[in-house]
Amino acid sequence: MKVIRAIQEMQNEVKKMKQSPKTIGFVPTMGYLHEGHTTLVDEARKNNDVVIMSIFVNPLQFGPTEDFEKYPRDEERDKQIAEDHGVDYLFLPTVDEMYPEQMGIEVSVTDRVDVLCGKSRPGHFSGVVTVLTKLFHITQADHVYFGKKDAQQVAVVDQMIKNLNFPITLHPVSTVRENDGLAKSSRNVYLSKKERDEAVHLYQSLCLAQKKIFDGEKNPAIIVNEVKKYIQSNTSGTIDYVEILAFPTLQPLKVINQPFIIAVAVQFDKARLIDNFIMSADGKIDHIA
Ligand code: AMP
Repeated sequence: MKVIRAIQEMQNEVKKMKQSPKTIGFVPTMGYLHEGHTTLVDEARKNNDVVIMSIFVNPLQFGPTEDFEKYPRDEERDKQIAEDHGVDYLFLPTVDEMYPEQMGIEVSVTDRVDVLCGKSRPGHFSGVVTVLTKLFHITQADHVYFGKKDAQQVAVVDQMIKNLNFPITLHPVSTVRENDGLAKSSRNVYLSKKERDEAVHLYQSLCLAQKKIFDGEKNPAIIVNEVKKYIQSNTSGTIDYVEILAFPTLQPLKVINQPFIIAVAVQFDKARLIDNFIMSADGKIDHIA
């Protein structure tokens, strides 16, 4: 595995790759790798000649009161994990390398962002698509891999690729969970022991919603209320949102009669956790994007 820190060097390597008909699979991450990330790499490895992973904690996508400085980092461990999973190129730019000067141009997102995390974290998705625009240009990827754990990100990147004509295929990958159901996340390390025990109830609340749908409930408001009550009675966290929306358009739904997402975000003392199920109208976990 080659570790690359300079954009120019990454571009030179990509230019060489493009001289022969090789497909490039790309996995963008912020590091502190876990099985959620490595599952994306495994998918990329199956379907591409070359796999590039980036690790970059992108300041543009963090709000002023968010955890950019404190975001967990462990470069040596990440390098080992990436190598063990068959990454060919690990792109590790510094903030100065990616943003040597004040950006004069940024990409902004105008659709699919007035709900969920886009609503709670203004500017977050513009920061995400701006860095992805740079990374997609640098890596010239043919296929990119994103986790459905960040489902709104999948919906936004789907639209970004289409609206801006990136010649890239998006591959959404199912959420990887701990044995008890908690979605794996780099931020889980911030949880106290008590919060870690409670955090499983985010997953359980989604299972409860799914059961309601299996039982024939079609009214999103009723399900959202039940889920909120469940989270409030079983965790010490503060609910940021519980929403049911059409997927991937993220439009409001009056009746559950099409593929949809139920998504939750809960703020614990030092960690804000998110989770979701994307389902068809009959409550089956959907394998659509
Ligand atoms: P991050 O490093 O948190 O920015 O995540 C990098 C990529 O890994 C994103 O596409 C995430 O959606 C994905 N990812 C993070 N956690 C999981 C998980 N538990 N299961 C599947 N994908 C994940």
